[in-house]
Amino acid sequence: MTARVLDGVAIANAIRLDVAVEAAALLTRGIIPGLAVVIVGDDPASQVYVASKGKACLEAGMHSETIRFAGTTTEAELLAVVDRLNADPRIHGFLVQLPLPKHISSEQVLLRIDPNKDVDGFHPMNVGRVAVGDQTAFRPATPFGIQQMLIKSGIDTRGMHAVIVGRSNIVGKPIASLLVQDTPGGNCTVTICHSRSRDLPSLTRQADLLVVAIGKPEFVTAEMVKPGAVVVDVGINRVPDPAAARGYRIVGDVAYAAVAEVASAITPVPGGVGKMTIAMLLMNTVQAARQQAAG
Ligand code: NDP
Repeated sequence: MTARVLDGVAIANAIRLDVAVEAAALLTRGIIPGLAVVIVGDDPASQVYVASKGKACLEAGMHSETIRFAGTTTEAELLAVVDRLNADPRIHGFLVQLPLPKHISSEQVLLRIDPNKDVDGFHPMNVGRVAVGDQTAFRPATPFGIQQMLIKSGIDTRGMHAVIVGRSNIVGKPIASLLVQDTPGGNCTVTICHSRSRDLPSLTRQADLLVVAIGKPEFVTAEMVKPGAVVVDVGINRVPDPAAARGYRIVGDVAYAAVAEVASAITPVPGGVGKMTIAMLLMNTVQAARQQAAG
């Protein structure tokens, strides 16, 4: 079998068009959805990511603000900006880019964000509301993107055994929370695995839907995958490659070529889940603007 490739670029572009249509509809009511991103320090990967968010916002007809702080900024200064954004009517959603410098408590910063503007969906209030199936809650961008990829690819998840490898708060746990709901792209039987799981291959081989988010290059081999499974590879890993111009290439957590021979569908890396994240963040910001307009 050669797996169908689930094209994150095409699906993300379609979602960004939907977002632009929704933003245009809000504009007729005098509302321009606004997203702010706060970044502390000069981590190059974060800088690139934040610039892409700003550009995507403008392309969708949305308002975008980027607030930059030096790595030496204090927690009090950062909290003051969070308070300002919580009160700013032009900003419907915002996020503080992680990781933060060690002297700042990410937890304190996160807890200070108004849950109604928490478009990253990391505030415990949103985590809980997603868990109880509240459709007005913000779903974290990467898991939300995975679910949308499955829906828009016509994959019926009802009754599937979804096995998730990785239990982080940003991917593993929230994708489990979405896949178990009684909603489109849900209704799975969910197993979550982690580094202490016993006999991992025996668990992954039970998966109709295998979601891998561990950060280990090409860790999942063809022998770990049930023939016909749908495989979602969340991993983004740099591996040295002297033949590449930059001296490295990007691979996922799944041994793509071999697993594509066994799976029925697979997300590539790059060009898969990673492309969905910004699109879903824009989607959440439009949702925030709509909900705030409704009061
Ligand atoms: P974390 O490091 O926070 O979590 C990794 C998880 O994998 C942990 O739960 C860990 O288990 C588990 N794990 C590690 N090794 C093994 C193993 N050998 N067997 C089973 N489980 C294992 O990672 P993230 O969730 O933040 O990210 C995972 C990957 O996804 C990374 O490559 C990251 O770059 C990528 N990513 C991609 C995004 C995108 O937009 N596409 C967004 C976010 C992340 P334990 O808890 O026991 O330590």
